[in-house]
Amino acid sequence: MDEVLPYLEEIWQSHVLTNAGPLHERFERELAKQLGVKHVSVFANGTVALMTALQAVAREGEVITTPFSFVATSNAIVWNRLIPVFVDVDPVTLNLDPTAIEAAITPRTTAILAVHCYGHPCEVEAIEEIARRHGVRVIYDAAHAFGVTDEGGSILRHGDLSVLSFHATKVFNTFEGGAIVSGTAEMKARIDELKNFGIVGETSVVAPGINGKMSEFGAAMGLAQLKHVDDVISRRGVVDRRYRAAFGAVRGIVCLNRSFETRANFAYFPVLIGDGYPLSRDDLVLRLREHGIFARRYFYPVIPEHPMYKDLPSAAADRLPIARDAAARVVCLPIYPDLALDDVDRIIKIVVGA
Ligand SMILES: *Cc1c(COP(=O)(O)O)cnc(C)c1O
Repeated sequence: MDEVLPYLEEIWQSHVLTNAGPLHERFERELAKQLGVKHVSVFANGTVALMTALQAVAREGEVITTPFSFVATSNAIVWNRLIPVFVDVDPVTLNLDPTAIEAAITPRTTAILAVHCYGHPCEVEAIEEIARRHGVRVIYDAAHAFGVTDEGGSILRHGDLSVLSFHATKVFNTFEGGAIVSGTAEMKARIDELKNFGIVGETSVVAPGINGKMSEFGAAMGLAQLKHVDDVISRRGVVDRRYRAAFGAVRGIVCLNRSFETRANFAYFPVLIGDGYPLSRDDLVLRLREHGIFARRYFYPVIPEHPMYKDLPSAAADRLPIARDAAARVVCLPIYPDLALDDVDRIIKIVVGA
């Protein structure tokens, strides 16, 4: 609280409440520094940022995307009157399978919208090689991937655009918020027009842009929390290591893999429940709930099972077997920086002792 008040004082003194005010500009600069990227545009939330990213690069046609994500990913496609084409995921990472992407490319394909699921980097090189060969654009939904790096730096530098969410449930939050990382200054300028109604200069509107702006209040929350994000991530890492060590040898529990070439952010702790475990996934969730522990079936069901999507050709029930199997078996255990290690041990005891 003490850290937020000076920012609020600044807002009252500047009399600028929104529209690219001083805190908004400072937050974009500090974020770029923190993330190790050049061009950041902050947004009111991650969903509007996804909608704007697609609007910036895809006019019409089909967008190849993952069934294993939060529904905002495919909703953003439909908002742009584009057609989502779901293809299956890799069984180890639960990210889009590049071979399945390639098989789904048609003359109507205009973009690939991939998700770094649970903050685990996609196979960016394979995806971008396919995109280059077929002349399609690549957007990453990086809502889970704040702070994740690979050997070459931030994971957010890949593709045409990467989209972050700063929702309250994410590793880094501004209560509600989001951002787009652009590859070039020109692209950032385009994104900044689109998030401000498509206005250029003072009097000209060049596109049906939306109101995606983050207010000075959101930027203040972001600036106050940015200083702590490295610490937050390392405390999440402690919980991750404790779970991983405890579940390593338990039959029927697979901890989803973490690549050791990357710096992870420990955004989630997903496990797959399978043969050999004494409870079904749903019974484990209930057992935890009886103890006051709220584990999430995240992502269940897969997006193509929702009434909104089930009639698309790519949503047919016999397709996407790997994503459907993962959705039936996955559970995300609690992980957050203030989770006491005693509570972690209590959760471990319930899961291992089931
Ligand atoms: C949270 C999330 C979003 C949406 O972000 P909001 O900021 O809540 O609008 C989009 N995609 C994925 C994968 C998410 O987890």
